[in-house]
Parts: sequence; C-alpha cells; structure tokens
Amino acid sequence: MQISIKFELNLTMLDGKAINAITNNTLTRTCYICNATPTQMNQKQVLENLVPDLNSLKFGFSALHAYIRCFECILHISYRLPIKKWQIRGSTAENKCLARKKILQEKFWSKLGLLVDFPKDSGYGNTNDGNTARRAFQNYKVFAEITDVNQELIWRLFNVLCLVNSSYSFNLQKFKVYCDQTYDLYVKEYQWFYMPVSMHKLLVHSAQIIPNFDLPIGFYTEEAQEARNKDNKYIRLNHTRKINRKTTLTDQFNFLHVTSDPVISTLRMSFKRTKKKVRLLPIDAANIAELNLSAQSQDSNEYSDNEEDDETNDEEEDAEIDTEIDEKDLKIQFDVLSDNAANIIVEFDEYSNFFLDE
Ligand SMILES: [Zn+2]
Repeated sequence: MQISIKFELNLTMLDGKAINAITNNTLTRTCYICNATPTQMNQKQVLENLVPDLNSLKFGFSALHAYIRCFECILHISYRLPIKKWQIRGSTAENKCLARKKILQEKFWSKLGLLVDFPKDSGYGNTNDGNTARRAFQNYKVFAEITDVNQELIWRLFNVLCLVNSSYSFNLQKFKVYCDQTYDLYVKEYQWFYMPVSMHKLLVHSAQIIPNFDLPIGFYTEEAQEARNKDNKYIRLNHTRKINRKTTLTDQFNFLHVTSDPVISTLRMSFKRTKKKVRLLPIDAANIAELNLSAQSQDSNEYSDNEEDDETNDEEEDAEIDTEIDEKDLKIQFDVLSDNAANIIVEFDEYSNFFLDE
C-alpha cells in the first residue's frame, strides 16, 4: 500500500497588518473580507448583502489578537459612555471621557491588579497585552462592573474567544447562531460605536472562515509566532552577522529553525508538558463544542474559581519579586503613570502585538 502525503501551507499566523498588506487593503478600518466600512459595521442588513471574498477567508482570523481587540473595544465603549458617540469632539467631551478613563484604570488596578491602557515609555503602543485581555475576560463579572458595559455581551465575547482559541472542534451551526445573537446584542446596546474590524471578523465571518480548515480553528492561531517576538529581538541582536541585510536575515532564520526544531524541542518537552495548564471552556462554549458537561465547569461561578486557582499558581512563581515591592511604592508608581501627560484616549488601534516585547 502506498500512502502519499500532500502538504498544504496555510498562511494563518498573520496579524491584521500583514493581511491588509497581502490583500492590498489600504483602508485599515475596512473589512478585508467583505469591504464593509466603519459606518456599515453596525448595519446588519447592509452586511448581509456584501459578498465575502473567498480568498481572504483562507487567512484565518488571528484569533489571539481578537482577544486584545475585543478587550479594547469594550474599554473604548466604556470611555465614551458619558457622550455615547464614536468621536470625542470638543474639550467638554474630551475631559469627560478622559476622567472616565482614569477612573477605569484605577478600578482595574485595585480590583484586578491590571495596568490597563497606559502609554508605554517607548512612546508607541500601550500596556494592554493578550494576558491583560484574557485576565479581564476571565473575570467577566468584575470586568463588566468596572466598565459598565453589558455583562452578557462581555460573557458572550469571552465564550466566542475561548472557542476560537481552543483546540476543540465544535458545532458550527450552534456557533453561528451564538455569534449572530452576540452581534445583535452589541448593535442593540452600542449602535453608536462602530464595531472594530477584528470583532466584526469574529462575529460576522467566523462561520465562513472555519470551514476552510481541516483542523479545529484553534490550531491555526498566531500564538506560536507571537510567542517568538521576544526571541526575534534577542536573536537579531546577539546571533546574527550584521554585514548586510541578507546575512542578518539568514542567520536569524537559521537560529529560529534550530531553536524550534522538533527533535530538539522534544528533548525538553517533558518539563514543559507538566507545566501547561488545561484551560476549561466556559459553559456556553462547552455547549457549542458539545463537550461532556460533567467534565467541564457546571456554572460560571465555578469557572472563575478555577481561574483564581490558576492565578495563585502564577503568583507563587513571582512571589519572590512581589514581597520586595511596598504597597505605598506601588501607589506612587501608579499615580505617576496615571498623571502622565501621554495618558490620554488615543484612537482605537487595530494593530498592537499580542505579547509585549519589552
Ligand atoms: Zn467583513
């Protein structure tokens, strides 16, 4: 018997920036799949008549980045709640929204220990990374309480995000209905805030994207690539010849090949495997994945309890550093960050790295 294997490369580890470049989409706020413009994002009937570009569906949907984008979308809605408008115009509106941002930052810090949406020292980007976003969604009740954004919407987004980042295959029909309902809820509550492209892709196009792939969609996320951002910087600096661009890139790729070699990686697999925590799916997501529910968390409270256990494990690893930092010092540091002149509401950014590389 002869077995032939056909390799098929899927370009799914791209982030929005790269996809826009490939698809020649110069309008970053426009969907590269259906060309929906910002003002069309919240109009279901209009969207239904747009024809998706079948080629663009093959790029997957950067499920990991969707976490930050959805998180930031909720933040930006919350900043604008006093004015309920997409654009913050005029000094009165600016002051109102900025004051609200600072209150939110303070609450995120005191209730969840998260530094949210502070400008980075480098002047580019902010302190939100994938872990911040994940933590906030895991504590969806507190997240909703802090932001005053509809709790059900946050909960639903959390479930969708968990599913597309998990390695479970799931019932596509149920998933589509769930996404549709989530979209409707969003539009009903926040018609005035145009849905960002990444959330649009998640809620409107995911059911079109998923059938293009043989494995569960979670296998195609950009996590592997993003996790190497830090290495890339280090390798470029310390392990490449800087004679010319070609040698630099060659060395960089060779080093990446060596360090991600499957044989070498398996040598240390045994250590890593035991550390990896299994993330439970929240109840709605478990239903869509048609998992045996007794093996999953039975209700949402139990889910967050499990997560708290996770956090204490994380904290144990950092315990040494933590004890050295004084509460007062932390408060001072926080105030410095908060009063920083650059701590303003910047435009909604579709493109920041998932893992901060600093
Ligand atoms: Zn679209």
